[in-house]
Amino acid sequence: MTRARVIADYGTRVVDAIAAVVLAPSCAACGELLDSPTRGPVCERCWRSILPLTPPLCDRCGDPLPSWRVSGVAQAHCARCRRSAPTIDRARAIGEYDGALRAVIHALKYDGRRSLAKPIAAMMRQRAVDLLDGAACAIPVPLHASRRRHRGFNQAEDLARHLGIPVVRALVRVRATATQTDLPAAQRHRNVRAAFAAVPPAAALAGGCVVLVDDVCTTGATLEACARALKEAGVAEVRALTAARVVARRPS
Ligand SMILES: [Zn+2]
Ligand SMILES: [Zn+2]
Repeated sequence: MTRARVIADYGTRVVDAIAAVVLAPSCAACGELLDSPTRGPVCERCWRSILPLTPPLCDRCGDPLPSWRVSGVAQAHCARCRRSAPTIDRARAIGEYDGALRAVIHALKYDGRRSLAKPIAAMMRQRAVDLLDGAACAIPVPLHASRRRHRGFNQAEDLARHLGIPVVRALVRVRATATQTDLPAAQRHRNVRAAFAAVPPAAALAGGCVVLVDDVCTTGATLEACARALKEAGVAEVRALTAARVVARRPS
């Protein structure tokens, strides 16, 4: 380690120590006091406790598969995707929408901790190298203009900007939809149907492959509606990358 680096490291430790005592900032996810506030608003323990979804995963939607069913099968799809193939060709997420990952996403989205977009997107990139491979661009799921004004930013766009591929705003939300949070799955699909439309930049993507980006995939209704609008505009392949996904629990 060079002398300058040693001094810089020492400086960071001193700043951390002073900030920890004077400001006493707490982790945006767990609320515990931060040991190293200069490293960002979420503590090391929270980052480390984010559990990735591990294979075997449905090749299509990315849901975990019970391993006994897929042994020896090269391409495996979950029961839901076998019943009706989704419009999204392939979807992946860092992990399940739960615990520390859920708390970190909440801090980004509802507490306006926009600096979290970069480390979350870094995890998304790491988890989805093959999903990003060959994709022309990332398309953030848009917010309706009124909600965007209210929040001041679109978290999906913040995440998309750090994925290392061009970002194209190819969709608009043409209809403000009732908040999805309290609706059952079937109603969510009805609620968002025709809520999105492709805009002129989408024309340049005809025949190509794109990656839709959002913070959470809950029932898939929003992503499916976006994918339909893009495919109607001529996009050949629509993949989806979200920070988290709600995993459907089926009786085993
Ligand atoms: Zn924490
Ligand atoms: Zn599936």
